[in-house]
Amino acid sequence: MTTPISVPAERRRQVAGALRARLPAHVANSVVLSDPEDTRPYECDGLAAYRQLPMIVTLPTSEEQVLEILEVCRELKVPIVPRGAGTGLSGGALPIADGVVLSTARLNRIVKVDAYARTAVVQPGVRNLAISEAAAQFGLYYAPDPSSQIACTIGGNVAENSGGVHCLKYGLTVHNVLRVRVATIEGEIIELGSEALDAPGLDLLAVFIGSEGMLGVVTEVTVKLVPKPAVAQVIMASFGDVITAGNAVASIIAAGIIPAGLEMMDRTSVRMVEPFVHAGYDVDAAAILLCEADGTALEVAEEIARMTAVFEGAGATAIAVSQSEAERMRFWSGRKNAFPAAGRISPDYYCMDGTIPRKQLARVLQGIEQMEQTFGLRCSNVFHAGDGNMHPLILFDMNQPGEFERAEAFGAAILALCVEVGGTITGEHGVGMEKIDSMCVQFGRKELDAFFEVKRAFDVPMLLNPDKAIPTPHRCAEFGKLHVHGGALPFPELPRF
Ligand SMILES: Cc1cc2nc3c(=O)[nH]c(=O)nc-3n(C[C@H](O)[C@H](O)[C@H](O)COP(=O)(O)OP(=O)(O)OC[C@H]3O[C@@H](n4cnc5c(N)ncnc54)[C@H](O)[C@@H]3O)c2cc1C
Repeated sequence: MTTPISVPAERRRQVAGALRARLPAHVANSVVLSDPEDTRPYECDGLAAYRQLPMIVTLPTSEEQVLEILEVCRELKVPIVPRGAGTGLSGGALPIADGVVLSTARLNRIVKVDAYARTAVVQPGVRNLAISEAAAQFGLYYAPDPSSQIACTIGGNVAENSGGVHCLKYGLTVHNVLRVRVATIEGEIIELGSEALDAPGLDLLAVFIGSEGMLGVVTEVTVKLVPKPAVAQVIMASFGDVITAGNAVASIIAAGIIPAGLEMMDRTSVRMVEPFVHAGYDVDAAAILLCEADGTALEVAEEIARMTAVFEGAGATAIAVSQSEAERMRFWSGRKNAFPAAGRISPDYYCMDGTIPRKQLARVLQGIEQMEQTFGLRCSNVFHAGDGNMHPLILFDMNQPGEFERAEAFGAAILALCVEVGGTITGEHGVGMEKIDSMCVQFGRKELDAFFEVKRAFDVPMLLNPDKAIPTPHRCAEFGKLHVHGGALPFPELPRF
């Protein structure tokens, strides 16, 4: 959790004045918000336990305005936090007390949908789902589908390398973006990637995607579109224990099948969602798997038969196959509504995100079960099982003293287990502020220094979303000592962050 700090009013006036002076007079006041009443809605993202009122919020309506804002900030040495819809779950868009939030909310135009090239060119504030809606008239859609797709923006998706149910078969954001236009802190526009499948030179597009707003501000994105499959069907398979369900996931992939989606929900998740959504889930199962096939009618029929055989062989206790589009949507509705449903059984939840080799699913689920006892908190598991991307939802009550701290410690222990079994501390939600200490567990100093060098290559003054995602040596030293000495005041001689 963060302790909010406030910034002197004089500095706020100075920076707001400089920004307004650089913008056309008729828009200056609507683009630059400095009254705390106006900036309050931006004080957090989806990780609402972390809050900080920004000094200023800017809402540019053009790429030129983005460049002007960056230039003023560079001149006055003001940190900048880019922001899309603020649905991020790791505090990536958490403001900085003496910083400017640069929101892309008004850069929300679909520039072009090219049905022949199967691409769309969009501004960064366009919502993920709006791209598919615009492409639907051509029988096309944008495949990466975060559960937040109704709200989250493509700029945020690029910054987080977001995933979703369909990413197992169709790839993450990085596999579905061809080109980005980026405003740099130097006030230049650069283009990474190209409209073609490859671009000359080093693959800086792949470096940029997933860089969490620390290298530049995305001002335009070209995405790939894919044809909507003719048919899709989903299997709901029940299992008597989570270990068998975890092993069934590995068996599907080992059988050479790449489902269009392969998701797992444990008993806590199923029982939390079913009364809310009435998806028809098996509430007696210890875990259910949702496994989708898409393609032509013939391909789907053949794949569903193979998947069914694998699940039967892997010990499924019941299998249901959707018989209509309405039933398929109903099966998915429970999975898609799992996060909101958590609010019905717990005042607060803390959503972790770690990725592990699929064959380790059973071991990690067992480990989480044991940690529920250790930390005295419940955890529900609903996640992208096919990708090995776990989303443990730790349930707690913010009003109970110490529960949030215990939830944070529980989350950090899960991430440490992910690293121990050969996985990573994030799958799709990024590092942001939430997991910055866990970066010290995952990486050594030399690797972290190399990440800083990449940042410096794009952002010499270190003003773009600083203090996020990459921990400083001091931070790791503090974190290490904290853990070794059980909370004793660490390294008093080092500056605190
Ligand atoms: C209910 C729920 C379900 C979710 N499900 C999924 C899921 O299935 N898969 C998944 O991957 N994520 C999921 N998320 C997390 C979140 O929606 C994604 O990380 C999403 O990509 C964030 O987009 P945003 O527009 O809200 O970005 P924000 O939260 O505003 O910002 C996220 C990061 O991107 C940076 N950023 C934003 N715009 C720009 C830009 N134009 N240029 C440079 N940097 C920028 C910010 O600085 C920040 O670091 C979920 C969140 C919620 C609340």
